[in-house]
Parts: sequence; C-alpha cells; structure tokens
Amino acid sequence: MTHEVVGNLHMHTPYSDGTWYHEQIARAAAQAGLDFIVVTDHNVWVQGPQGYHHEVLVLVGQEVHNNRRYPQVNHLLVYGAEAELSQCAANPQELIEAARARGGLTFIAHPFDYPLKFMHEPGIPWVDWNVQGYVGLEIWNYMSEYKARLPHRLGAIYYARYPQRAIRGPFKETLKLWDDLLAAGGHVVGFGNSDAHAFNFSLGPFKRVIFPYEYLFRCVNTHLLIDEGLTSDVEYDKYLIYSALEKGRGWVGYDLLGSTQGFSFKARSASEHAILGEELRRAGAVNFEVEVPQPATIQLVRAGKGVVARANGTKLKFTSVEAGAYRVEAYRRGRGWIFSNPIYIL
Ligand SMILES: [Zn+2]
Ligand SMILES: [Zn+2]
Repeated sequence: MTHEVVGNLHMHTPYSDGTWYHEQIARAAAQAGLDFIVVTDHNVWVQGPQGYHHEVLVLVGQEVHNNRRYPQVNHLLVYGAEAELSQCAANPQELIEAARARGGLTFIAHPFDYPLKFMHEPGIPWVDWNVQGYVGLEIWNYMSEYKARLPHRLGAIYYARYPQRAIRGPFKETLKLWDDLLAAGGHVVGFGNSDAHAFNFSLGPFKRVIFPYEYLFRCVNTHLLIDEGLTSDVEYDKYLIYSALEKGRGWVGYDLLGSTQGFSFKARSASEHAILGEELRRAGAVNFEVEVPQPATIQLVRAGKGVVARANGTKLKFTSVEAGAYRVEAYRRGRGWIFSNPIYIL
C-alpha cells in the first residue's frame, strides 16, 4: 500500500544565500503542511540538522556548481550522497559520477534559466548537455520561473505583491526537453521545487521580504508515493523518500491552485498494471486512468507525440496500443497545476 508524502527539495539557508536556518524553515514547512524538506545549500553539504523538526523530516542535500565560472551555469542538485562534493564542481560529469559512487541521486536544477536584465543578473541554465547518468530534471523551479516573468522594474513591484499572477507553469522548453529525452528511450524523473531563499528585496522605496519560505511551500511541491508510511526513523524514512524519488513515483503539484493530494495515474494491460514511474509491458491494448482531486483540464502526453487525450473534469480514460512514455498534465484557470512522472509502456 503506497502512502503519499509532500515535500520540497530545493532551498537555501544562511550557509549559502538563504535567510533562515533549518529549524526555522522546518517550522514554516510544518505550517504549510509539508511532510519533508531537503535543504540544498550552494556548494556546501551541511552535516548535522537532518532529523525530525516540528514533525517535518529535514534532510540535507546540496546544490553544486562551479563558482569560478561566469555566469555560474550548470547547477546540480545532489541527494543522498552524504558527503561534500563541491570539490568536483568544475566537471559536471565527474560530479555526477562522484555522487553516484556514493549512492547519491543527481538532478539538473533549473535546466532553462533566463537573465534578469534590469537587475543585470545573468541566466544560470544548464549548458553541458553531453552529461549522462543523472536521475532527472527540475521541470518546475518556482523562483526561476518568477524571475523569467518579470518584464521590468515596475512589473517587478507589481509581481512581488501578486506573485500568483506571474506563475503559469513549467517552461515549454523544459517540457519539450524532457519529452525529447523520454522519447529517446531514457528514464528521466521530473520534480519541482521552490528554490526558496526569502530574499530581502528593495527597489527604491519599496522594501519587503519577498517569498517567505512558508508561502513558497504552499506553491510548487513534489508529491511522492512511498511504499509505506513514514516511521519517524530518520535513516529509514530518508530511504523511503529517496527511493520513490529515484523511480519517479510522484508528480509536481502547484498546490496554491488547490491541493493536488490524491492525484492518481495508472495503466493496465491484461493482468498487469503500473503507476507513475513504473514500466508496463503491453499485452494488447493499454488502458490509462487519471483522476485529479478537483476539476481541471487534464491532458495525457505521449513523449515525442504530444497530447494524445484531453478531458475536462476530474477523470480521463484512454486506450492505446502504442509503446512510449506517457505523462499527465493538468491545468486550472489556465495555469499549470499537476505534472506527473511518466508510465513507461514497453
Ligand atoms: Zn540554482
Ligand atoms: Zn537554488
């Protein structure tokens, strides 16, 4: 019996450029209803704070990049390596190998990222696309999207007050990249995060803390289906979460538009069945079933082929005889809401 847990796997503390420490962030996560968080400071693996705080499981990963390179592109998120890896930052492939050698999972953070021109900040996308061996892509990074939607200074003030008007969904180019990788036959996990820092932001007379952690933890999260409920044993629960993450047993939910808890995506063929992140061998036709917790526009996407079925409401059913990686997107009020990992039909 699987259990759903909700978490956020990309955020910063004052060990790099964030504002709050682990324990305070855990309190914000508890208030937002998260089950777990993974703190990922830039180029430092902070030993110590892993454990339950305010009934939220706090794990520590790392966001590694070469800080001698300008702009500082190629941000890699590392989970479960349980070691300092920033010494490998100059060579992304070596970094991925070093993490793997320690049983770590690596994800390409904000694969597309755009400059903030009026602040003279360069974009920090991933550029070394010849790398191999990473587990997945951060298909939706809240702060990276927000930054990309700011048109100019005045717009920045407006959107700092009404961030929900700026946020629309993962970048189309990121979804296309993901589909291209999936259509080429790879297993590529998608996840989504806040990238929370809680910056102090000032533009002329306008000063405020933008994007407090708690607000962001109500926005773009990763929902995972773990094999059994969390036990409060930190090492065991870490294993449950990272093994679901590695398989892609989950989805990205923009929970501000309505909680995505309870979403389900299944496929069945003869007596075999699969859930998201799993493979299913065809025996004739494959029946897909999607259920979303609130009415939405639901789309079933076959990687490389585009949308193969669409429905409005809370359910979508579709039958196919074609192999491929099938994933679900759901939209509410024209904004991205749910982006599932694929079921791989063989
Ligand atoms: Zn980053
Ligand atoms: Zn970050």
